[in-house]
Amino acid sequence: MSPTINALLQKRDAILDQLRSIEHFRRGTVTLHARVCGKPSCRCARDASAKHEQFIWSFSSGGKTTSKHLRPGPEVAKYVEETERYREFKQLVDQLTILNEQLANSKPAAVIDDADTLDALKKKLRRKLLRSSKRNSSVSST
Ligand SMILES: [Zn+2]
Repeated sequence: MSPTINALLQKRDAILDQLRSIEHFRRGTVTLHARVCGKPSCRCARDASAKHEQFIWSFSSGGKTTSKHLRPGPEVAKYVEETERYREFKQLVDQLTILNEQLANSKPAAVIDDADTLDALKKKLRRKLLRSSKRNSSVSST
């Protein structure tokens, strides 16, 4: 095994260890909204520093947004940590993906000498890829 591949495998194992030990996480973001309630008698109407603050966790996916009001203090801290951890998780997955592509590039495709075996493989791949191109008509070139 080449030293480069060995190094890539070691990095991959290190990332897998990190992924295995990562604590609970969640998608989305936590934001602090400061608003004026609109009551003329309320302090927030006169004092900009007395605006009503709300901590909100929200998450959007597929055009649908989920959100939740968080209690100031430990609940906000929990959600901040969890959403930060999700971003760490995604970075690890990105690194793992790049490492795996490098490992895949270092491995050449098999050589098939037997003509029948090669022909059977070509037919099998044609069937498989024709099917998938019907399902997914957009083709991206990389
Ligand atoms: Zn107010």
